[in-house]
Parts: sequence; structure tokens; C-alpha cells
Amino acid sequence: MLKIGCHLSSSKGYESMGKTAVSINANTFQFFTRNPRGGKAKDIKPTDVEKYLKFAKEHSITSILAHAPYTLNAASADEGLREFAKNTMADDLLRMEYTPGNCYNFHPGSHVGQGIEIGIEYIADMLNSILTPEQNTTVLLETMSGKGSEIGRDFEELREIMDRIILKEKIGICLDTCHIWDGGYNIVNDLDGVIYKFDSVIGLSNLKAIHLNDSLNPLGSHKDRHAKIGEGMIGFDALVRIINHPALKNLPFYLETPNELDGYAKEIEILRNSYGE
Ligand code: FE
Ligand code: FE
Ligand code: ZN
Repeated sequence: MLKIGCHLSSSKGYESMGKTAVSINANTFQFFTRNPRGGKAKDIKPTDVEKYLKFAKEHSITSILAHAPYTLNAASADEGLREFAKNTMADDLLRMEYTPGNCYNFHPGSHVGQGIEIGIEYIADMLNSILTPEQNTTVLLETMSGKGSEIGRDFEELREIMDRIILKEKIGICLDTCHIWDGGYNIVNDLDGVIYKFDSVIGLSNLKAIHLNDSLNPLGSHKDRHAKIGEGMIGFDALVRIINHPALKNLPFYLETPNELDGYAKEIEILRNSYGE
């Protein structure tokens, strides 16, 4: 069965997200751990988590994906901002232990002119200081489009970060189709070639989730503007080939397309109808 869901608001807690997911025929979902601009997280209510876990079990929601606030920058030139990113993520990982066995995705960061090497060192240092052998969450580095000074614009940069991580079994990759298309990977005309490249640089066993988005912009544009499924420059057929590719088809897919709930429900329906078991 296709594992697919979309980004949901976490403001009403876990049980509410589970119910919303099921209402649009999703069997997974993504959510922000706190306000996407950062700030203090709401306290997790153990009773909400308990109800969610029971509901998830009954409705075959086997895994979910948390997303760190996108304003965090572990590669900032400002020590205070790096510290803030580290503390926020460490706190998120503690909170993730309420729902063990899931993934936590973050944007590696932007080097803001310091240079890629320095940025990569900062990101790896941060991960090494927050990852613990006891944690039950896998932390995912997201592939980025390369706008501005974003790190993670190609597979090699992510590999560079991963090589520096001590607890390698605690990290993985979340591949965003809009971002890698904008980053110059031709998933429309050469999906096999891109997957081969990913496997040889990073290793397919490290790929844990896919953000399934169309892109408003052409290949290699480094823009990062998501489009609805089939309404962008990647197009419906290429996205259907992605969910059906033997190397990818068992991964969880997350829509981050510009939609309200009814739009997500439609996209999930057409993608389910286009998925071969
Ligand atoms: Fe993201
Ligand atoms: Fe994404
Ligand atoms: Zn994006």
C-alpha cells in the first residue's frame, strides 16, 4: 500500500492530526514540532499521545515525520543563533520520544557567506552534540534547492555532513522532489540516473522519506517554489514514476504542495489510483 500523507497543522495535537490524516485517506503525515518560525513548543499532553497511538494503530498509521522550524540555522555565523538551533532541536528530540520510532527532518542550514566547509562543520558539530545512543528517532537531512547559501544543494554536500557524524545510525535523508529538481537533478528525463547517483554518493539505505512536490521553476533554477502535483514543471507523469519506482515505492511520501485539506485529499486520491501494488 502506498504510504502517503501531507503536511498538517499540529496546533490541535497528535490525535487531531491522526484523525485529519485518515479523513483524507492518508496513512502518514508531517507536522511542525512548533511554530515554523521557532519559539517555544507547546507542552505535549501524554493523554493526547496515548489516544493518538491507539488511533494510529487502528488506522495503520505506522510512521510519521516531524519537521524542525525552517528558520533554524545550525550553520549561522552568529554563535547565539547556532546555539538556538541546537537547543531547539535537542528539545524537539526529547519530545519525539513520546512517539518513538519516527523521523525528524530539518534543513541543514545556510553558510551565509562563510563558505560551505565551515557550514558543514557547524552542522555536523551540532548533530554530534545532540544525537544520543538512546534516542528512538532518526534525524533526516533534507535535500535543498540551493537558494542563497543553502547547504545540501547536492548529494555530495549531504555526504560530507554524514561522514562527520559519529552516531551514523541515527541519521538519514529526506529527499524533496521540488528541491532536487531545482537543484539540477533531472528526475523527469533521467530518474534512474538520479537514483543511481544518490545511491553511489549517499546510499539508498539512508533514504527514509520523500517530500513529493511539483516545482514552479525549471530544472536547476535553485528557487524552491512548490507547485501542486501535475501543475508544475516536473509534471504528473514524472511524479507517478517516482512513487512507483522500485527503489522508492515503499518509502513514505509527504505532500508539501500549496493546498488546503480538500486539495490534499484529491492529490492523495489520484496518486493512490496511479500506484501499482
Ligand atoms: Fe522542508
Ligand atoms: Fe520539503
Ligand atoms: Zn521547499
